[in-house]
Formats: sequence, structure tokens, C-alpha cells
Amino acid sequence: MTESKETKPRLIWLNIAVFSITFLIAAIGVPLYAYFVGFQLSTIILAILATGFCGLSITAGYHRLWSHRAYEANPVVRFIFAIGGAFALQNSILHWASDHRIHHLYVDDNEKDPYSAKRGFWYSHIGWMLREYQSQRYHDYQNVRDLQRDPIVMWQHKHYLLLVLLTNLGIPFLLGFLTGDFWGAVLLIGFLRLVVSHHVTFFINSLAHMWGKQPYNDKNTAKDNAIVALLTYGEGYHNFHHAFQYDYRNAIKWWQFDPTKWLIKTMSWVGLASNLKKVREEKLAKSIAMLQFKTAKKRLIQLNMRNKEEALLKIQQEYENFLLKMNEYYQLKKEWLELNLEIKKGQLAENMENNKLTQRYKELKQSWMKQQKEWQSLIHQYA
Ligand SMILES: [Zn+2]
Ligand SMILES: [Zn+2]
Repeated sequence: MTESKETKPRLIWLNIAVFSITFLIAAIGVPLYAYFVGFQLSTIILAILATGFCGLSITAGYHRLWSHRAYEANPVVRFIFAIGGAFALQNSILHWASDHRIHHLYVDDNEKDPYSAKRGFWYSHIGWMLREYQSQRYHDYQNVRDLQRDPIVMWQHKHYLLLVLLTNLGIPFLLGFLTGDFWGAVLLIGFLRLVVSHHVTFFINSLAHMWGKQPYNDKNTAKDNAIVALLTYGEGYHNFHHAFQYDYRNAIKWWQFDPTKWLIKTMSWVGLASNLKKVREEKLAKSIAMLQFKTAKKRLIQLNMRNKEEALLKIQQEYENFLLKMNEYYQLKKEWLELNLEIKKGQLAENMENNKLTQRYKELKQSWMKQQKEWQSLIHQYA
């Protein structure tokens, strides 16, 4: 049943005006200016930097730092992200993080998730901001009490509108004067930068819940997608993110594109970030194996084959065996790591017992690696 006109929440004209006017100016003004006047190279470079500043302030700041507390950051970093977030025009940190925590808690719940992907692409991308869909919770910041203790968060929340105006007018005007390409800067750094940063973030709520794979969790619509990650500073590995939201990484393989993670890691090397949280290796391995087992079982049931019962029993047994080996390996690894720590601290001298444990750990590691390979080849038969 479609909603009648009377039951639809009120339109938010300010948001509609901001999104459509900035979009039209960027879409029409930028190509016209490029054709008739031309942009200076310095303006183009500054616009790219400004876009990156907005994007990373949202992903590393609003999202991973404040919404998920995946790490801790120095006040200077927090201040820079607070400015970048206002420049990106995505509401205050407090409001954004509150919405986002509700999104994770009630993901895909059409009534509670502020940008539920189950309501379709348009709604989760931008539609949710165009009408007063959940106005009852707009000023309810109970789920971000922890952030209310951060003076930078509260300062930004209080002066949000002023900061929006100062950054969105001040930065393009200032850079325009400095480069001598005033209107070029207004168009590229003012409008195009804003429109790009908006839609890039919006893709995380829309595309990242629709297009891609689910290697870590199949309980919600969040997907892993390399192309979306390329557009969103690494946030396209959204299936991993919804499975382990407290992890400072969204991409966990070194070759996957996650510049937000690289930035946080780099900041930690120079003392600007600390306490970077990561999911335990064992928990991650268990989640992946569980999902692989589930998928393989489902495929096997659909297959038209003889000895299906036998094959099902085999993967069940192999899965249980795999989990047993996994537990054994991680238990011994823990003991071995503790032992090494004691030796390092000088609390324990190296002796025969210790050497035996090290030997046993090495052997178990070998057999665990072998077990993993066997499991993968078995699972791939039904992938
Ligand atoms: Zn999400
Ligand atoms: Zn999140």
C-alpha cells in the first residue's frame, strides 16, 4: 500500500533547497565555467584537497572516532575533524553520531533505522533527509552521552551554523583570492566539493547496503564492495564494518583501499591517535568459517547430486574439526604469547619447558595452516 499524501511527513524545505541548489550549480556551473573560462590547475588541486579534507573528517572523525570510538585522538585532530565536518555540511558531530548509532542498533528496521536500506535506494541515499520522518528523536541525544563530555563536540554543536558559514564561504573565498581564480574557487571548492562530499557519504548508506558481498555477516544488508570503497575513503567494506563496528579498520587486507584506516594508523605512529581497536583474530576467523559453512550447506542442499547426505555430513564433520583445531591453536598461541611477554620482561628465564612450548606452538601453527587450506578447498567446491 502506498502512503497517502496526508500521512507523509512534512517536507524539510531547507534541506531540499541546499541539496538541489548546490547540485544544480555544480552540475551546470562547473562545466560551463570550464568551457568558457577554464579553471586554474591550483584551484583544481585545492578543490581535490578540500574534498579529501571533508571526506576524511567524516569517515575518520564523525564515523570511526566519534560514532564508534574505534580509537582515541588528540584534541588537535578532533578540532580539525570538527571543522572538516562543518565544512562537509553533514550536521553536528553529536547529531550525526546519534543517528549513526541508531542505524547500527536497528539496521534495516524501516521504522527505527534513520536511513534503512530496506526502504530503497532513494530513501537511504537522500530521501530520509528531505522529510521529517523521525522528528520525535531529532533532539534526543541520550545515546551519545559519552560524546557530550568531549568539549570539542559540544563546542561544534553549539556553534554549528556559524562554523558552516565560516568554512563554506570563508575557505572558497580565501582560496579564490589567494589563487586569483575567485569564481573558479567558488564553483570548485565551494559547490562541487560540497556536492561530491555529500553524495560520497550518502553512498555508504545506500550503495554499501545494496551492492557487494557478505563475507563476515549475513544478518543485515551491509555489503563489502571494492568500488564503493574507492569512492568512500574505504568505507565500502561495510559488511565487515557492521560485523565489527568497533574496529578502526573497514578493510582488513593490506591490498584493500582504506585510506581512512591508513590515516588513523599513521596518526598513531606520530602520537596523534591511540588505543586503536581491532577484532580478535580468533573471533574473525570463526565468523568467516561459520558463514562459509552456512553458504556451502545451502548450496549443497540446492544441488542435484547423488550422495548429498554423505556430502552434507562430511562438511559438517570438517567444520566441527576445523573449529576444534582453531580453538586448540588460539589457546596455545595465547599461552605462548604470555610466556614470551614474561621472558621479555625478565620475569622468566628461558628453559627446557619454554622451548618445548615454543616447539609445540610451531608444530600446531603448521598443522593449523594445513587445516585452513583443506577447509578452503572443501568449501570452494560448493562456492
Ligand atoms: Zn550501514
Ligand atoms: Zn558505522
